[in-house]
Amino acid sequence: MTETTGIPAIGAAADIDPRWYRDLVETAPDGMVLIDAEGRIVLVNAQAERLFGYTREELLGQSIEMLVPEKYRRGHLRHREGFFAEPRTREMGAGTELPGRRKDGTEFPVEISLSPLRTDRGLYVMAAIRNAQERKRANDKFRALLETAPDAIIIIDAAGRIRLVNAQTERLFGYQRDSLIGKPIEILIPERLRSRHAEHRTGYFRSPKVRGMGVGLELLGRRKDGTEFPVEISLSPLETEEGVWATAAVRDVTERKAFERQLADYAENLKRSNRELEQFAYIASHDLRAPLRSLIGFSQLLQQRHAGRLDGEALEFLGYITQSAKQMQSLIDALLEFSRVSRTEQVFVPVDCEGVLSRVVHQLRALIDSRNAQITHAPLPTVLGVEHEIVQLFQNLVTNALKFQPGPQPRVEIDVQAEGGFWHFTVADQGIGIAREYHDRIFQIFQRLHPTEEYEGTGVGLAICKKIVEHHGGRIWVDSEPGKGSIFHFILRSAPPGEGAATS
Ligand code: ADP
Repeated sequence: MTETTGIPAIGAAADIDPRWYRDLVETAPDGMVLIDAEGRIVLVNAQAERLFGYTREELLGQSIEMLVPEKYRRGHLRHREGFFAEPRTREMGAGTELPGRRKDGTEFPVEISLSPLRTDRGLYVMAAIRNAQERKRANDKFRALLETAPDAIIIIDAAGRIRLVNAQTERLFGYQRDSLIGKPIEILIPERLRSRHAEHRTGYFRSPKVRGMGVGLELLGRRKDGTEFPVEISLSPLETEEGVWATAAVRDVTERKAFERQLADYAENLKRSNRELEQFAYIASHDLRAPLRSLIGFSQLLQQRHAGRLDGEALEFLGYITQSAKQMQSLIDALLEFSRVSRTEQVFVPVDCEGVLSRVVHQLRALIDSRNAQITHAPLPTVLGVEHEIVQLFQNLVTNALKFQPGPQPRVEIDVQAEGGFWHFTVADQGIGIAREYHDRIFQIFQRLHPTEEYEGTGVGLAICKKIVEHHGGRIWVDSEPGKGSIFHFILRSAPPGEGAATS
């Protein structure tokens, strides 16, 4: 057999037909080229002819370097001599990447495995050659993706050594790629946190799984210059021939953190100025009550005791003063009431709205009877809130519903529906209704749509309702058209199941 092919018959049955070896080589999917110690091609298969575009005749007896681009030939020669001096099997993909050269001069990436063959005619080398174009293309695509990723991508092995990084990693941490590869990942973490990180890392590799960004994995990164910055990290295991590695995507969240801090400061400032404003409204309305009371008191005294000494016009003017002062007193009382809502932190408890409504009906008894009104309601649930505020909310809405239904036998209908963890209430009347352009305005303080002579009031009731509902984490709005009645909607949180209501 060595006579015909030069291939030793290792592992073959003694009676095997030597032509089978030729067929084996011929039909191999890789290009096969056998060279002698001088680097001359002594055997090629059909796939090698196809790969390089030469015929068998053109190749046989030529130096193997004809299949290597000119600029690499000298280097290849040295390698070849080195290999023959110390021959050993070299697998595909392990070692230098060398392009191949076709007959037409074009080049293409190849993957080569080498196996020495010792024969009684001397040493030969069998090279199996594969076109690596497709693989290279896929590889290039992966590289491009990796390099253009907005996050720093770092691949580490199970021992925590960095195996691969992308351009963003270099930019983010200020290291050159070369000085990171092979180093422990902890190089990118502040020193004081390194041992803890190493423990985490070992723990991760014990049960590696995908861990997305923003799931509590916040860490500090350390740049080459020692400066630190907050990062968010996602991890995913990566199966490799060398076992499970991990891919970490690292994002610099400095800006986001700063933004979050700014937002928190802003919210805190807003809260403070709101508190100050409420405090001011409270003190102002409280302090204005005393002088106003004396103004009303003295003008009434004047009317009672000195009416005889005043002419008709003076008495009429005095009447206006008293009336205006009284209206001002109502406004100030309402403002005081408004600024009292949710002034202090209150604990939310389960509040039974059936109980709430019976209290409201009780308080409005005289009004309801005098107007011959009818109030109907669906079975009302238990909500989570501050009881006296919920009472005030229902009372204001029912009072308005009665007030703005000037006809006989006004009707108010209260309904409720469950919506997730919330209750959606409606208070409906068949009164005068509200034009669409005022649907928002009526919830602002002191905003009224009618003069006091027509409908009494201060314009604070709905502002209080809005404040109460929002304090409870809900929402209030109106659905209405002039002449077609109004439906006030509001949403309150439902009490957790199993908790009894505290209301009486
Ligand atoms: P007040 O009732 O003291 O005027 P509110 O804040 O309770 O103040 O209401 C503001 C305005 O919204 C009222 O003046 C009225 O014009 C309008 N409004 C409130 N409730 C109703 C209703 N049920 N039907 C028609 N208009 C209403």
